[in-house]
Amino acid sequence: MNRDLTIGVLALQGDVREHLSALAECDALARPVRRPSELDSVDALVIPGGESTTISNLAIEFGLFEPIKKRINGGMPVYGSCAGMILLAGTVLDGREDRPPFGGIDMIVRRNAFGRQVDSFEAPVGIDGIDGAPFHAVFIRAPWVEEVGPEAQVLGRVTSGAAAGRIVAVRQGHLLATAFHPELTGDLRVHEYFVELVRQSGSHGVEMARAGVS
Ligand code: GLN
Repeated sequence: MNRDLTIGVLALQGDVREHLSALAECDALARPVRRPSELDSVDALVIPGGESTTISNLAIEFGLFEPIKKRINGGMPVYGSCAGMILLAGTVLDGREDRPPFGGIDMIVRRNAFGRQVDSFEAPVGIDGIDGAPFHAVFIRAPWVEEVGPEAQVLGRVTSGAAAGRIVAVRQGHLLATAFHPELTGDLRVHEYFVELVRQSGSHGVEMARAGVS
């Protein structure tokens, strides 16, 4: 059903396999992206959870950093979870100056905002545009969004506990980011939402990329 469009998963580090199988369960054609030629052949990209500075570092090393930035600016749909959210932020707090994000979403994200690994937790999050019960969200050394600009739309906040009210899901047009990891829970609703976003965007940018136009 969704197999006319291909969704790549940036496969440099992090929970790549989990995203590939969540997308496959949504009946989307998904494949790992490790090199620029593989990026050129996908219509959309998922940036997985992992370690944002490592992913940024490897993206530079593998010659993917600038091509990904270009595709983001060209309208390619991208979904970033956790480290992926950090990499889609215009501004990162507590990041490393020499490990820049790709950017794209007008938001300020704070890395490791909820605390260290021991502070990983689960909490219900209601997400605008996703029907049904609040999302059972898993946070692992997660960021939160301190602030969004006028272009970005807050989709979800933590609803209870010490972090209640914190912004953890954001969309800006073709870009989607969550501070939590839906790929680890078996709840496919965020991936389904993204697949639908990709379907509505069509093959934006891929023809240009294939033709080598930047
Ligand atoms: N703390 C990690 C980072 O800064 C993100 C953690 C995650 O993706 N689970 O990149």
